[in-house]
Amino acid sequence: MSDGNDTIFGRILRGEIPSDRVHEDERCIAFRDVAPQAPVHLLVIPREHIPSLKEAQPEHEALLGHLLLVAAQLARQEGLEDWRTVINTGAAAGQTVFHLHVHVIGGRPLAWPPG
Ligand code: AMP
Repeated sequence: MSDGNDTIFGRILRGEIPSDRVHEDERCIAFRDVAPQAPVHLLVIPREHIPSLKEAQPEHEALLGHLLLVAAQLARQEGLEDWRTVINTGAAAGQTVFHLHVHVIGGRPLAWPPG
């Protein structure tokens, strides 16, 4: 049964498709990216369906902070000393799944600027 979130991450949240979960709490879950771009590549997503950072509202302030703190906690848990957190916002910026998510990428040297 859909709750209106027809993205692939909505399906993961509802347990309709499997994911390799590394964290869950009352506000978010985190799982391994299916196409990792580095030895560690996690995605932290809110349970609430916010399509992208464009739709984030002042009421989401604490939730957005929580996502970043969970991202940092998981990066350390994965043994990373340095890592990159990325929130692609909009198709031209590389966003392909329209359920806000924080990428946690690390385990190899990361070039800057990104492509
Ligand atoms: P973005 O391009 O920023 O929207 O990131 C979407 C990410 O979701 C990509 O890195 C994909 O590899 C990842 N992804 C897509 N489908 C799945 C899935 N079923 N399980 C885990 N990661 C996924």
